[in-house]
Order: sequence, then C-alpha cells, then structure tokens
Amino acid sequence: MSLLDDIQSVLYPEEDIQRRVREIGAELTEAYAGKAPLVVGVLKGAAPFMADLVRRMDLPLELDYMVVSSYGQATKTSGVVKIIKDLDFEIEGRDVIIVEDIIDTGLTLRYLADLLLRRNPRSLRIVTLLDKPHNRRVDIRPDIVGFVAPDEFVVGYGLDYAEKYRNLPFIGILKSRVYAGRA
Ligand code: 5GP
Ligand code: MG
Ligand code: MG
Repeated sequence: MSLLDDIQSVLYPEEDIQRRVREIGAELTEAYAGKAPLVVGVLKGAAPFMADLVRRMDLPLELDYMVVSSYGQATKTSGVVKIIKDLDFEIEGRDVIIVEDIIDTGLTLRYLADLLLRRNPRSLRIVTLLDKPHNRRVDIRPDIVGFVAPDEFVVGYGLDYAEKYRNLPFIGILKSRVYAGRA
C-alpha cells in the first residue's frame, strides 16, 4: 500500500510548487527590503508552504503561527472559525504577512485578517499557495497567489482529507473511493 494509490490525479507537481515558492520568496524579499516582517503561518495546512517559503526569503524575518479550525473532518465549510492558538507576538506597528494554504469561501481568512487588523499592524498582506475563487462568500483578496485552483477538493503539501495526505510533496485529487470510506 502506498499513499499514491489513493490519488486520482496530480494538479501541481512538486517541481511546479517549488518553482512558484522560489518566485514568491524572491518577490517578498524585494517587497520587504529593509524591513523585518512577521510571517504568520496558519496551521496546520500552511506548514509545508511556510517552511519552504521563508527559506526563500532573504530578510531578517520572524515566524509565528496561529491554529484555527473551520472545517472539522468534513470537506464542506461550517462557517465557524475557532482560534485554537493565537499569536505569540504583539503585532502593533509591525509588517505582518499571513501565509495560508488555500482560500475557498474566504471565511477563515476574512475572520483572521479582521482579527489581526484590529491590533494595528503597520501593514498586513496575505499570501496563499492556492486560491479557489469560485466559492467565495466574503470579500477577501490575497496579495499573492501561488496558483488559482479549480473548484475541486485537493490534498497534499499541507492540505488534508480527514487529517491525512498532508505529507504528499505534490497537490492532487483523491479517488472517489477514498471518500466513500473504502480506502
Ligand atoms: P475557507 O474558510 O476559505 O472556505 O477555507 C479555508 C480552509 O478550508 C483552508 O485553510 C483549508 O484548511 C480548507 N480547505 C478549503 N478548500 C480545501 C481543499 O480543496 N482541500 C483541503 N484539503 N482543504 C480545503
Ligand atoms: Mg488553511
Ligand atoms: Mg483541513
């Protein structure tokens, strides 16, 4: 048995992801030259992207993480955002970059962005590896998007189905039998 047996198709191969991560890292390095941004990863999904991205940013940045929950085990959003772990750092007057894995309805990011904006950062930008604009329910515009994704449920490179598949180095679509519980 291999994890790969559950994959229907690969949407973003590892090489494409890594190339895009390098590009975004270079873009941020230029945009924040002379600054020391606080890069905020939204766990768990953004962990692989965050780890790869910050190593492509030549800046005296600092890292922080938030843990939020919005989906539970399901593939559909409940619309409920819960802060499980808040930031360790104060962000007033700081240049903050939120790093997300994917924006779908936008509910999670809208809530997070509003929460952080109330703390008066000097600037707040949103970087997401994937953007699925088709399902948007609230107005939230990421400043940098890795890839505009089709309206499909994807897994890998941090993205889970029932907490599994986050460790795939690529992003793909699962076979339907996995959802049917016959995996
Ligand atoms: P939103 O609040 O924008 O609808 O969703 C944000 C969160 O939902 C993401 O951070 C991610 O955890 C989850 N999510 C949305 N779309 C997908 C998807 O296609 N695959 C996976 N694995 N998670 C998704
Ligand atoms: Mg996420
Ligand atoms: Mg999830």
